[in-house]
Amino acid sequence: MNKSAKREICIIGGGMGSISAAIYLKSKGYEVSVFEKNSTLGGRANIIEEKGFRFDVGPSLLNYPWIFENLFEAAGEKMDDHIDLIEIKSGVKFLWDDKETFTITSDFPRLSKEIARLEKSHINGLNSFLKVNSKRYNIAFEKLLNRNLDNPLGWGIGLGFSELLSGSMFKSMYSDLGKHFKSDYIKQAFGSYAMYLGGSPFKIPGFFSILPYGEIAYGLWMPKGGIYSLIEKLENILEKKGVKVFKNSQVSEIITNNNEVKGIVLEDGRSIPYEIVISNVDLPTTESKLIKKINNNSFDKKQMTPSVMTFYWGLNKETDFPHHMIFLPDDYKGCFDDLFIKKTFPNGMPFYTSSPSVSDKSLSPSGKSTLFVLIPLPVTEKDNEINIYSNEIEKIKTRIFDRFKHHNIDLTQDNIEYEKIYTPDEWKNLFGLYKTSAFGASHNLFNIGPFRNKNKSRYKGLYYVGASTTPGTGLPMVTLSGKLVSDRIENDFS
Ligand SMILES: Cc1cc2nc3c(=O)[nH]c(=O)nc-3n(C[C@H](O)[C@H](O)[C@H](O)COP(=O)(O)OP(=O)(O)OC[C@H]3O[C@@H](n4cnc5c(N)ncnc54)[C@H](O)[C@@H]3O)c2cc1C
Repeated sequence: MNKSAKREICIIGGGMGSISAAIYLKSKGYEVSVFEKNSTLGGRANIIEEKGFRFDVGPSLLNYPWIFENLFEAAGEKMDDHIDLIEIKSGVKFLWDDKETFTITSDFPRLSKEIARLEKSHINGLNSFLKVNSKRYNIAFEKLLNRNLDNPLGWGIGLGFSELLSGSMFKSMYSDLGKHFKSDYIKQAFGSYAMYLGGSPFKIPGFFSILPYGEIAYGLWMPKGGIYSLIEKLENILEKKGVKVFKNSQVSEIITNNNEVKGIVLEDGRSIPYEIVISNVDLPTTESKLIKKINNNSFDKKQMTPSVMTFYWGLNKETDFPHHMIFLPDDYKGCFDDLFIKKTFPNGMPFYTSSPSVSDKSLSPSGKSTLFVLIPLPVTEKDNEINIYSNEIEKIKTRIFDRFKHHNIDLTQDNIEYEKIYTPDEWKNLFGLYKTSAFGASHNLFNIGPFRNKNKSRYKGLYYVGASTTPGTGLPMVTLSGKLVSDRIENDFS
């Protein structure tokens, strides 16, 4: 019998990272128990169902479907038997204050036309952009993201000599994009992905141009029934595989002694011994709140991704605008400086909208529709502070509808039939997010690869999984994180 079969592992938190770790560990023969503070699994990938409207709380788009296929395979299942994936061919439409627009799509002829229109030439950098980033993309998925790389040398070797020499890790995304495109609109649209990585495109490494590349080359997806249907199907699999899931079970402490983990204490005072514990709670929150013996302030200075305010609107009519839209301000650089340097309300207030019922009518009652709006906001300076922008609901809402009017989008507040709002502090309190940061630790140069928070702690037997550890944030990355932590444990304990 495999030695590991006797070991029992506790995972604190039931987000996507935890679900992935549980499946990979179970496939390696471990016994797994998950303790989740809320009444549902999924963490930030959660659900609101009201009055016939079904809203995904956090993630609204799915990239790299094969990462989820691999997860289903690890459980001995086929994703196709559980999930019906819809490709969102309309891509993402960008709109500026001056009314210029641009659409990033995997429909290549349409994208080429869009780029030629803005570059004012058919001879443009799209092909060179795709070529360079296809190479980087393969490096990322074949050599960097799929293994535990702890030392900078191994990581540098994985990255490769030519990529190191090209300086893509040291030059900014914006200047990297400038090698292929002249149009500021194109550079701004592609560069806007830096927002969710926790930095400005003028600072985040150029290597991350693989994000817009990934959407062009491999498409944008949504499971039928919304992102949460993925969580529902995976929860069924956890049950089938015998993973023990305890909901409404908040962990108040991780017990350590002599540099070893000893178990957990639940909010009701019960303590349960474990030799191996994985925390899926945002890593800085775990280290600063759950491990009582250390008073870890080292995260105070680390850059985090932005906070968000999110609106969930059930509308009393159908809409005909694209599934995904991003509204950018004229003062593009200024708004990133406000968010990440000055930590003030972003000038021109960029925001993202998702209208999933455009692609899947089952998400709203007939003749009605759903609209999700996400506004990035600064995080707090310290974790114990209230985010002052949590009080700006009316100001933000008015600006959203003013912006719709500016673009002749036929929608007013009178169309709202159902409304739910999550402020930055609600996000924090619901899921334990450090400094109200929505996506976890930032991905600046000092926070990626071997420099990112490791998935193994200084305590023997204590590990981490999720958005603030390796390899990074987003559903595909935290799913990989689950695999990486399972490999790490297998390596340490078998
Ligand atoms: C608004 C928003 C939009 C996003 N959009 C996208 C998108 O379109 N596509 C994409 O790929 N990604 C998106 N993301 C990012 C993605 O949601 C996250 O990277 C991912 O879901 C994080 O998963 P996780 O497992 O790391 O953590 P979490 O989902 O945060 O899970 C951690 C779990 O731990 C639980 N917990 C916390 N404290 C305790 C405790 N003391 N005891 C027990 N349990 C506890 C929490 O309740 C939670 O369930 C978005 C995120 C947000 C917030």
